[in-house]
Amino acid sequence: MPSGMRRLSTWRRWSLWMLLGVLVVALLATLVWLAARYEASVAQGNVERDAADALSDIRSALTRNVQELQALHAAHHREGGTWHVAADQLLRAHREWVRLEWRGPALELRAEADSPYRPPVFTRMGRGHAQPELQQACNAAARTSSHAYARSYFVPQADGLGLELMELCLPQVEVGRLTGFIVATYSLTDLLATHIGPQMGRSQEISFTEADGTRLAMHGLARRGQRVFTAQQLLDLPGATMVLRMDSWRRPEPDLFPNFMTALVTVMSIALVTVLFMLGHDTRRRLRVEEDLADALAFRKAMEDSLVTGLRARDLQGRTTYVNPAFCQMVGFGPEELLFSGPPAPYWPPEMADDYRKRQEVRLAGGNSPPREGFESVFMRKDGTRFPVLIIEAPLINAQGLQTGWMSAVLDISEQRRVEELSRASQERLQATARLATVGEMASLLSHELNQPLAAIASYANGSMNLLRDAPAPAPDLRVAMTRIAEQAERAGRVIKSVHDFVRRRDQAREAVHPKALVEAVLPLVNLQARKLGVRVELRIPEGLPRVLCDRTMVEQVLLNLARNAMQAMDEARVAQPALLLQARAVPAPEGAKRWLEFSVADRGPGIPEEVQKQLFTPFYTTKAEGMGLGLSLCRTVVEQHGGQLLYEANVPQGTIFRFTLPAQSAESA
Ligand code: ADP
Repeated sequence: MPSGMRRLSTWRRWSLWMLLGVLVVALLATLVWLAARYEASVAQGNVERDAADALSDIRSALTRNVQELQALHAAHHREGGTWHVAADQLLRAHREWVRLEWRGPALELRAEADSPYRPPVFTRMGRGHAQPELQQACNAAARTSSHAYARSYFVPQADGLGLELMELCLPQVEVGRLTGFIVATYSLTDLLATHIGPQMGRSQEISFTEADGTRLAMHGLARRGQRVFTAQQLLDLPGATMVLRMDSWRRPEPDLFPNFMTALVTVMSIALVTVLFMLGHDTRRRLRVEEDLADALAFRKAMEDSLVTGLRARDLQGRTTYVNPAFCQMVGFGPEELLFSGPPAPYWPPEMADDYRKRQEVRLAGGNSPPREGFESVFMRKDGTRFPVLIIEAPLINAQGLQTGWMSAVLDISEQRRVEELSRASQERLQATARLATVGEMASLLSHELNQPLAAIASYANGSMNLLRDAPAPAPDLRVAMTRIAEQAERAGRVIKSVHDFVRRRDQAREAVHPKALVEAVLPLVNLQARKLGVRVELRIPEGLPRVLCDRTMVEQVLLNLARNAMQAMDEARVAQPALLLQARAVPAPEGAKRWLEFSVADRGPGIPEEVQKQLFTPFYTTKAEGMGLGLSLCRTVVEQHGGQLLYEANVPQGTIFRFTLPAQSAESA
């Protein structure tokens, strides 16, 4: 992966993780907030309920009090003069009253009683201080013929504190006529303390306030917590309206978590964050492993690509599942042509596909395990050429230990084969050369040894001829025979010398010889054999041919050898009308270029079979029982030493033509 792309994807991954983290934190914060809010609403609900309960308690207490006051009035009427006793009794039972009064229709005081629980409240300021409120309450009561309250008012006390008081006025009506009033003075603080106090919680505070929030009286522990929940209820009494307010403080928490719900959510949040962290950690580890793996893969790929050994994997159905570039290059097929192909694979030579298929079936059936050192086979390139390969196979085992196919390493061994072939050929050539050297030694020994007997033969022949010349009537044939003997003996001497020179690689004596002279020199020997084998010999040597520049004796040997081979071939094949054609002609050449002469020896023999053709010029190759196999190889050496070429071709309709070229004498030197 290019580093730029890698950086980008890393960045993206990080931003995703960050986004996830932010989302989770936001979610958790929301959850905690919701839990806290839920708790708050529960607490608020509790306060509201408590406030409502308190209100109804106060209401019923006030109603009950009114009834008791009415009873006081009734009792007084029945028994007479006992008002004080009844009033004292009531005051003892009701701490919330500070004073009870019996007043006439014009509010003149008839009787009075103060609460036994506190010093009389009006001693300092005087009763007149409360006159307006009293007036207000009783006026309202007289008007409605029912009890009525007045607005509360504050009375300072001797101890520096004060009391918030409220007047209750109860009209006394007898036979439709107002006879007086019962006035009860409530202490609001005590009203709260006696009726609400007992069932109040420790962290609660209850108070009466005015509509604008001014606190009139309160009860409760003033221990403040961190949060306060407040509920308000309207207490509307005939003639007076107040607000009952309840404050509830949350206890200062001993631990971090106010309650189970929040704690649960927090624990879950911590667990979630932990899991998230672990997941992140795991992903990072995976990423590292992934990167390592990618590196290893790239390394392996580079290794496979750099290999010269072809790699090929096959599944258990024999289909190719993998090839490396070296294998593709070897067989010339692209990976797309090879993958999931076969059997037969496209690189199997059609003529061997059946064998290969059988071999593969046996292999896939687990029949035979491939040899460790590999086996040789032949593959076909895309262009159809075959080439030898060495295949080393091993089973392909997957991570679960199951065999999923076969992996083969394939080596192209055609080059190796070629080198082997070359070294074998050069080995053979070396052996032939060694033998040739021996032959050369032998030839020079022979030529040395034969020179003297030949010279003796020649001189004896010449001597005999001299004797015959002086003899009276010699047979003429004898004279000719003697001449021939002398000539051939001389010729044999020349051949031997020539071979000796050739073997010793001395500079051959080049002379300009007329082609006709060359042919005619070997003709007697050719004719001798031709007569024996019944071969008709024909010469075609036109007049006016240039002379040939050559080692005469060796070229004569070449001609003789070719003619002999031709006649032997026709004889062996028992050709019906054996004929031999010796021909010489000038090779057409542009003006000024070097001139060449071409000699040819044509027969009507069986031709040269293909397997013989391959080794025709190999030294010591012969098809004959008594043959040496040196003839043609020597002939070619001789011709090539002259700068010419020895070739052969099929004769039409049958037979063989051997041709060789020799340099002609240039026109000017002629
Ligand atoms: P040799 O004559 O000793 O066998 P050569 O080198 O002259 O050795 O010939 C090699 C082989 O070439 C012969 O054995 C023969 O089979 C084949 N040969 C040569 N000339 C001819 C020909 N004109 N027709 C058919 N076969 C020939």
